[in-house]
Amino acid sequence: MGEERVQIKTDFNHCESIYWVFTQLCNDTCDHCYNFSGPDGKRISTDECMMIIENLPDQIDRLILSGGEPLADKEKLYRILDRVKEKYGSKTQVMLQTNGDLLTAEILDTLIEKGVTRFDVSSIDRYHKNAGNHLMRLSELFTSRNVNGDEKDPLIEKEHYLHENPLSWGYWGATKDMWLGGNWARGRALQKDIWKKDPGHNFCSILSGARGFLGGTELPQEISIQLWKISPCCPGTLFPMGDARTERVADVLKSISEDPVYLRLNEGNPWKMGETKGITEGDAKQRTDELKIFVYGAMSFFKTPSSKC
Ligand code: SF4
Repeated sequence: MGEERVQIKTDFNHCESIYWVFTQLCNDTCDHCYNFSGPDGKRISTDECMMIIENLPDQIDRLILSGGEPLADKEKLYRILDRVKEKYGSKTQVMLQTNGDLLTAEILDTLIEKGVTRFDVSSIDRYHKNAGNHLMRLSELFTSRNVNGDEKDPLIEKEHYLHENPLSWGYWGATKDMWLGGNWARGRALQKDIWKKDPGHNFCSILSGARGFLGGTELPQEISIQLWKISPCCPGTLFPMGDARTERVADVLKSISEDPVYLRLNEGNPWKMGETKGITEGDAKQRTDELKIFVYGAMSFFKTPSSKC
């Protein structure tokens, strides 16, 4: 009997969720940072950001703006929020991922006015400069503006957010098992050798991984854009699927939607992505065991950009 295949979506002009790292500028330089963000982090211009917004799908349920630290590139963030509001109105829930260090009452008021309804503080861990010490300050700040800290995560309670879109915030941070997990070995985390060497950890199959990026699974259909690189997952593939500055995201998704490599990623099964290129699941797993990480393990077999991952 053949394996059950996931039925992907067909309308790529509607994305449930887009995670966009629009800057790698940051006020911090955490050792575990997966994309080398910092005071010298890579940036794209405001004009490029406007081009990317033009190329986003006509309908997006959630747009997650992240970095780097979005508030370190504040003027650009404000321009993005203004353009997103013009294009999507209140139909898109705009979420901000921030380390919280630079957030003040005045900035919070501006962000709310410009349409952000969800704030995720992602720095409550021992790897960030503040090591979670500013949680009380942030809690008081959000409470003072009626931003609710008791709402469930919008990526999980999605219907509630789509229809009511309340102001809310939440927090989390890196743990050895999660954000330093099996395939988080990138950027400074790899350089500083603080990633978890666990070849069995399948990040691809969980939220923020590639599973469901073409739809058809229990996870939200989410793609990631790292600066301009369109990717099926938050950590990114070796080669991007496309360039959001010059290509429409919906067209890019459509163009790869029948590629067996991407279909296996959509199923959350990276070890099978090379099967049509003569790389068996067993080969991929063996290579993963050698390298202690599945993405590098699998992609080290592929030699050409057309193989992408
Ligand atoms: S982990 Fe977050 S706060 Fe730390 S350097 Fe990277 S983007 Fe900045």
